[in-house]
Amino acid sequence: SAKSRHKGRHAVFDVAMHAKAVTRLQIETELRQALDSGEFEVHYQPIVALRSGRTKGFEALIRWRHPLRGLLSPGAFLPVAEETGLIIPIGSWVVDECCRQLAAWYAAGVATPGLSVAVNVSNRQFWSGNVIDDITGALDRHRPPAGSLAVEITEGVVMENVAPARDILHTLHDLGCQLHIDDFGTGYSSLEALHRLPIDALKIDRSFVWQIDTDRRSGELVRTIVLMGRNLSLDLIAEGIETPRQRDFLIRMGCGYGQGFLFSRPVPADVACTLLGEPA
Ligand code: C2E
Ligand code: MG
Ligand code: MG
Ligand code: MG
Repeated sequence: SAKSRHKGRHAVFDVAMHAKAVTRLQIETELRQALDSGEFEVHYQPIVALRSGRTKGFEALIRWRHPLRGLLSPGAFLPVAEETGLIIPIGSWVVDECCRQLAAWYAAGVATPGLSVAVNVSNRQFWSGNVIDDITGALDRHRPPAGSLAVEITEGVVMENVAPARDILHTLHDLGCQLHIDDFGTGYSSLEALHRLPIDALKIDRSFVWQIDTDRRSGELVRTIVLMGRNLSLDLIAEGIETPRQRDFLIRMGCGYGQGFLFSRPVPADVACTLLGEPA
């Protein structure tokens, strides 16, 4: 009957909801254990000077070496970490690990002069009230050279709440952190706000870069971002460069830096340090 069909549908729906909740709970429990047992890793993707091909720094990207499921990308677990607030202890670990690694590269003499590592800080981390203590603590513990740690936050995080964001950014700047605005172009930045923030670089989102050479609007958009960034004396870093053609377009537009599979995928620390010095 219609009624039992209806009932059946409800049952199916509930089972699906239940399964989803269980999976989420499972991931949450596993994430806690993963943090305790050291299953997270930081991989490093070179940020290169486009003309010379030399690596000027790395972006730090978290990976989960899952005992059963292998190496997991952030997309598979960061949303749950974000929802549950576990991103805060996990993010704190990432910052510490990056500072440790930076200091180790400099101490071993493998770091090229000015080498930096950029760490991602999510919306929730940024507003948690922990970010400044976490970064201060990690810098104190490991003492990488001043200016070698960079912090990436997205445009949206800053623009939603400019005045309080500015205070945090100024504090980070005073601690000697470089500041990068991530995924730039996907939100709505006010030029006036950008101008008054202590920012070092804009990262042009991959969604504009991937068709820079095939779609006129993407090309024009990137050109506008580059001009704006240069007027504000900011470095420009294009994300997601996969072809020499895309790189050449970006060079012609005056974009100084980039990262992408053309140069290297994100790699473990021991591989990353072998990429220093040589043009990509
Ligand atoms: P994001 O900060 O915009 O990082 C760039 C993403 O683009 C990375 O994905 C990187 O592997 C990928 N990518 C780089 N070059 C190319 C390319 O040429 N082609 C393509 N198709 N992709 C490219 P990943 O590692 O999966 O990270 C995804 C996002 O997860 C990051 O986006 C960032 O928002 C977040 N994330 C990663 N690590 C951390 C972390 O330690 N803490 C926090 N809070 N977020 C993180
Ligand atoms: Mg980033
Ligand atoms: Mg990005
Ligand atoms: Mg992005």
